[in-house]
Amino acid sequence: MKIYINGRLFAEKDAKISVFDHGLLYGDGVFEGIRTYNGRVFMLEEHLHRLYRSAKAITLNIPLEKDGMSKAVVRTCKANRTLNGYVRLVVTRGVGTLGLNPFVCSKPQVIIIAANIQLYPKKLYEDGLKLVTVGTLRNHTESVSPNIKSLNYLNNIMAKIEAINAGVMEAIMLNPQGFVAEATGDNIFVVKGDRLRTPPIWAGALEGITRNVVMGLAAEQGYDVREETLTRYDLYTADEVFLTGTAAEIIGVVEIDRRIVGKGAPGPVTRRLANAFRALARSTGVPIL
Ligand code: PMP
Repeated sequence: MKIYINGRLFAEKDAKISVFDHGLLYGDGVFEGIRTYNGRVFMLEEHLHRLYRSAKAITLNIPLEKDGMSKAVVRTCKANRTLNGYVRLVVTRGVGTLGLNPFVCSKPQVIIIAANIQLYPKKLYEDGLKLVTVGTLRNHTESVSPNIKSLNYLNNIMAKIEAINAGVMEAIMLNPQGFVAEATGDNIFVVKGDRLRTPPIWAGALEGITRNVVMGLAAEQGYDVREETLTRYDLYTADEVFLTGTAAEIIGVVEIDRRIVGKGAPGPVTRRLANAFRALARSTGVPIL
């Protein structure tokens, strides 16, 4: 595998970053996870917009324009022939001192890894996922905004630990007001009849790119799609619940807090949207070759 670091491609064993990088020392940096399907990078522009917004929010100056970054992603995919894969784009604060001060760090480091991902076993896409709501609350929006896709994922990891310790693979995180925010690495949707609901961004959800694509597809298909504050009651009484994310794509949820969701299998709306998503993903994006 060839790894991109600051404009150069390195063999995996030579791809190295300093132990003084604040990305490592403090989780100070931002990232994106991007998919390639059928030889194209899916929603590249949207991911880059979000990356640059995350960077701006933490006063991190990415040493490349968006256009250059786009070319760097395509170049790394090409070098690795990542035609159906997963790209991890990371920008760290760079090398600094052992103190927190980000302004004494040298230049930010740009890292691109083009690889593969299988977040959940294939069978779970047919059988559906079991979730629990957990005690770890999503960061307060004025603490670390959930819209900053930062390298500091401890909030989400703490929730994931609770889920795994409870015997399931994924957690639903509530916000400090008790409303549903999102899963640890995915957005959440609730279906009731022809209504589709997902928590608003202010409730502590990352503005997921898959989320936005799914909202668009659902609206096209005639569903009434809206952002709405959701409580656990809404999850427990839903016809269907599903998660969306770049790595997970669209996955049905069949159990929450040991309660059966809907009919206990991924429902027709979830399957219809997953099919529409797959069709779109296979036919759009920035060509790699
Ligand atoms: N929420 C969180 C916390 C995430 O890390 C992600 C990305 N894995 C998502 C939601 C889904 O966003 P996207 O569809 O852009 O991947």
